Amino acid sequence: MTIVVKVGGAAGNSLDSVLDDLAARTDYVLVHGGSDRVDRLGDALGRPSEYYTSPSGVVSRRSDPGHLEVLVMALPGTVQTEIVAGFARRKVRAVGLSGADGGLLLAKRKEGSRAVVDGKVLRVADDWSGTIENVNVELLRQLLSSALVPVVGPPAITEAGEIVNVDADRAAAEIAAALHAEVLVLLTNVPGLLRERSDPATLIPAVARDEVDSVMAFAAGRMRKKVLAAKSALAAGVPRVVISSSQGERPVARALAGDGTVFE
Ligand code: ADP
Repeated sequence: MTIVVKVGGAAGNSLDSVLDDLAARTDYVLVHGGSDRVDRLGDALGRPSEYYTSPSGVVSRRSDPGHLEVLVMALPGTVQTEIVAGFARRKVRAVGLSGADGGLLLAKRKEGSRAVVDGKVLRVADDWSGTIENVNVELLRQLLSSALVPVVGPPAITEAGEIVNVDADRAAAEIAAALHAEVLVLLTNVPGLLRERSDPATLIPAVARDEVDSVMAFAAGRMRKKVLAAKSALAAGVPRVVISSSQGERPVARALAGDGTVFE
C-alpha cells in the first residue's frame, strides 16, 4: 500500500512522533511544508514574509523573487535536510527532493493572482507561485523501489526552468493522485477539521466526498488549503484523505485508523 503523508511546519507539529511512526513502515512518500521556518528565516534576514487573502478567502504567501530565495533556503535548505537527518537517526535512508529536482513537481506559473486589500481586489505584483501540472512519478517509484524514502517539499519548477512556490498540502494531493496512493494523510497541529477552530471537541469526524463544499465554511485561513487539497485528491481518484494531528504517539497509524477528519 502506498501512502502519502504530509506533515505541517507550523508550531505545535510533532515531527519526531511522525518520523518514529514512519520509520516502522515502507512504501510511503513524506511531503513537508514549513511556512513557520520560512517566516522565521525571513525575519532573521530582514525580509519578512507577506501574506495576502484571495477573493475566495484563501491565504497565500507573497512569492516575489526575493522571498522565493528565502523559501528555498528554509525548505529544501533547512527543513528537508533536517527531516532526512531525522530519518538517518532512525536508520532510514531518505532522499530529500524539492519539486525542482528531476522535474518532480512541474508547475505552470499562476497568472493574475488577486488579493483583497482594504476591501478592494488588486492584482498581486511579481508573483512567482504556480499550479502543479505534472508529478514525476517514475522518479518517486525508482526511489521507493530502491528502499529510499522520498522527502518532498516546495518549491516546484516550470517547463521553462523557473522556480515557483506551490502549496505543500496541494503538492501532497497531487503526489497522492499521481501515485494512486490509497490514502493521503495531512498531519497538522490540530486534531482535524473543527467546527469551532479553538475547540477540539467540535471535531468533524467524517466528510463524504459530495459534502466537502459544505464543510468549507468552517475552514478558515490555512485550514482552507487542507480542505481544498482533500477535495482535489478525492476528485483525482484518491479514495481517502485524513486530516489529523501530528502530536502524540503513532500519529500516522492513528490517522490510518480513522482519527481526525476522514474524507471519503
Ligand atoms: P500546518 O503547518 O500544520 O500545515 P497550518 O497552520 O497551515 O498547519 O493549518 C492549520 C491551522 O489552521 C490550525 O492551526 C488552525 O489555526 C487553522 N484553522 C482554521 N480553521 C480551522 C478549523 N475549522 N479547524 C481546524 N483548524 C483550523
